[in-house]
Amino acid sequence: MRRPMVVANWKMNTRASDAYILATTIRNAIAPIEGIEVVVCPPSIWLGEVSDILKKDGKVNVGAQNMFYEAEGAFTGEISPLMIVDIAKYVIIGHSERRAYFYENDFIVNEKVLAAIKHGLTPIICVGEKHKSSPISDAIKQLNEALTHLPKNRFKDIVVAYEPVWAINKGKVASMDHIVKAMIKIREVVGRDTPILYGGSVNTDHITDLAKRPEIDGVLVGSASIRAASFIKICQEWAATKSFKGCAA
Ligand code: PEP
Repeated sequence: MRRPMVVANWKMNTRASDAYILATTIRNAIAPIEGIEVVVCPPSIWLGEVSDILKKDGKVNVGAQNMFYEAEGAFTGEISPLMIVDIAKYVIIGHSERRAYFYENDFIVNEKVLAAIKHGLTPIICVGEKHKSSPISDAIKQLNEALTHLPKNRFKDIVVAYEPVWAINKGKVASMDHIVKAMIKIREVVGRDTPILYGGSVNTDHITDLAKRPEIDGVLVGSASIRAASFIKICQEWAATKSFKGCAA
């Protein structure tokens, strides 16, 4: 059975004191929630501190927002899987903002996915078509490229986040029909063991509708995840709704 998940991507937000307060508030609020896995991905500079705060209760996992594919060496400014693995369980790979602003292409994304798996991290692989008029097959192509050389028996060790780029940071989620169509196509690629998340302007208004769909295992939350009250409400709703509906087999 795949686990229902809620993942927070803080992006390049939070100064030290904000990160401390946000992580502590989330940890305390999530402690009584059962039945979902919550993951917080802070900026890499706060990974250690946030991980220490969250580990005190042990319920919320930590993820990095990015990593380089080499294990060590002369790569100024980068962080390696070996640096992350003692602190975090997850790493977001191929986020559309990395692809757009840092020129990450499908080859680099694939290298990162393979490196994450090799070093014991669970990659959260982001795929999504660029424009509202682009076909979902663009996202599927990204996914197939990201999974190149990854044996099928490792698909249980990855998470896929479907994030149509045109819906990210726009305040408006994609239509349910569109999301479900994409989920079904992604499921055909990864099989039954991989959690598939939706991301793109997820907020408290439509979280229950998203959670009711058995095709959607979880959500990747950007802007709404740096507001403690919104993020906590999203987790509570996901847990409450999924505990009745479960995830699709
Ligand atoms: C994201 O950063 O992956 C994301 C989905 O952002 P937002 O929720 O702000 O659209």
